[in-house]
Amino acid sequence: ESPHEPVLTVTGLRKAFGGVQAVDGVELSVAPGEFVSIIGPNGSGKTTTVNLVSGVLRPDAGEIRVGGVRLRPGSQEAAAAAGIARTFQNGRVFGNLTVRENISVGLHTALRAAQPWRGLAGFPVLRWLPLLAELALALIPTPAVRAERLHAEAEVDTQLSRFAERLGPRADQLAHTLSYANRRRTEIARALALQPILLLLDEPAAGMNQSETAEVGAQLAELKAAGHTIVLVEHKLELVNALSDRVIVLDEGRIIAEGAPAQVRADPRVIEAYLGR
Ligand code: ADP
Repeated sequence: ESPHEPVLTVTGLRKAFGGVQAVDGVELSVAPGEFVSIIGPNGSGKTTTVNLVSGVLRPDAGEIRVGGVRLRPGSQEAAAAAGIARTFQNGRVFGNLTVRENISVGLHTALRAAQPWRGLAGFPVLRWLPLLAELALALIPTPAVRAERLHAEAEVDTQLSRFAERLGPRADQLAHTLSYANRRRTEIARALALQPILLLLDEPAAGMNQSETAEVGAQLAELKAAGHTIVLVEHKLELVNALSDRVIVLDEGRIIAEGAPAQVRADPRVIEAYLGR
């Protein structure tokens, strides 16, 4: 892999729902450390694009490459293993887990993936074996597993301290008792704990008031400054304009404009797509 290899390359991406061509031949490429925003009117295919890249949906056509390696289509596990982490438009946290547990969820999944005997759970006769193996591990943890656990705990602490003011005091609170904004912060912290190569954020400031939106903006600016590679889907153009190296404008599943924020803002096709209906 050359240092200039894009983190993400998407070619000929298509997805239809019934008669609706939600994504219609999208091509995009994201360089290491780049902050790319995807904007467009409602229903223009932004979330579907994110769902395709993160393996939530399987494309009808097209290719998704991470670091030059083709992703298995429609597999969230493959996307996660390749280093893609994402947040969801409505915010998804496990209400009956604490903030700390929510942040560590993905890490534990990664840990589990490294424990092959778990696969045995699928065979009824052998169902008790994984349990026994885990019990044994809990009693005599191998150095590798112990190291993984310590790493996971350290990573959760790192993310908690990132949101120290907001999430710190609530680390052991159940997520369903959190405010909406704090649920969304928890979700971002969980994505970051995975130390992703590419972070996909689907409207992280949706439903937030002005000061909360500004706070998310500051948080994202910090991530950008730290060199994270980010794709942001966002309606709030003040965030998009302040953060983006490049803006991609979708309309009816197609890219109608692309460039620096100021350039895109002045594009007649963009003005038409937003105002001409
Ligand atoms: P955006 O995120 O830009 O608002 P979406 O990607 O959510 O747009 O949707 C693009 C188009 O695909 C819309 O017409 C929407 O109604 C349709 N669509 C999205 N998801 C589904 C689905 N699961 N089933 C049917 N139609 C869908």
